[in-house]
Amino acid sequence: MAIETPKATCLLCKSRYSGMGMTRHLQSCLPKSLKDQRNQKKGKDKPFFHILVKGYDLPEYWLHLKVDANAELDDLDQFLRNIWLECCGHMSAFSYGRDELEMERKLKEVLRPGMELLHEYDFGSTTTLLVKVLSEYEGQLEKDNPVQILARNEAPEIVCDECEKALAVQICTECQWNGSGWLCEACAKDHECGEEMLLPVVNSPRTGVCGYTG
Ligand SMILES: [Zn+2]
Ligand SMILES: [Zn+2]
Ligand SMILES: [Zn+2]
Ligand SMILES: [Zn+2]
Repeated sequence: MAIETPKATCLLCKSRYSGMGMTRHLQSCLPKSLKDQRNQKKGKDKPFFHILVKGYDLPEYWLHLKVDANAELDDLDQFLRNIWLECCGHMSAFSYGRDELEMERKLKEVLRPGMELLHEYDFGSTTTLLVKVLSEYEGQLEKDNPVQILARNEAPEIVCDECEKALAVQICTECQWNGSGWLCEACAKDHECGEEMLLPVVNSPRTGVCGYTG
């Protein structure tokens, strides 16, 4: 079913772009905003990375992040758990090539612009994320907040598999195995598999997986 790619808002300038457009946009908007900040002479500039994180198999879910270069991989892991992943405290890991990276490593010790890491959460029903380091800059960082969102995808609109009319709000984890299971409010009510099989549709690459409810 053809669904229009949702747009998203750049939190720096409030312009609207779709996924690919946002990557291009931020590569000019971010340095421009840093220049404006510098003219206002606030505090001391600190190094940070511009990082794009997206669902490895579900690229319609993405986050553009500004991450303190002195933060640890652990901080980024925590952030990803909070916003996208955490259901029941599964294990997670970052890897580069074949190497797993220790969570205590500082970003500045391991990351370079152009690098692509993988982040995996839950080694049973795994959610895999692609972590792309786009650039490194210096600028103002929020105090005690190592990871800031620059832009985030808006929830993709997914149509109900049963009536094919209304938007899905629940997922049947049973029917999902057969490639369907997206249900609108009305169809979810009298769905044959029962209420206990249903999970809410949320704006995350882990929607419908394990016990993830957002
Ligand atoms: Zn912008
Ligand atoms: Zn779980
Ligand atoms: Zn329906
Ligand atoms: Zn079902």
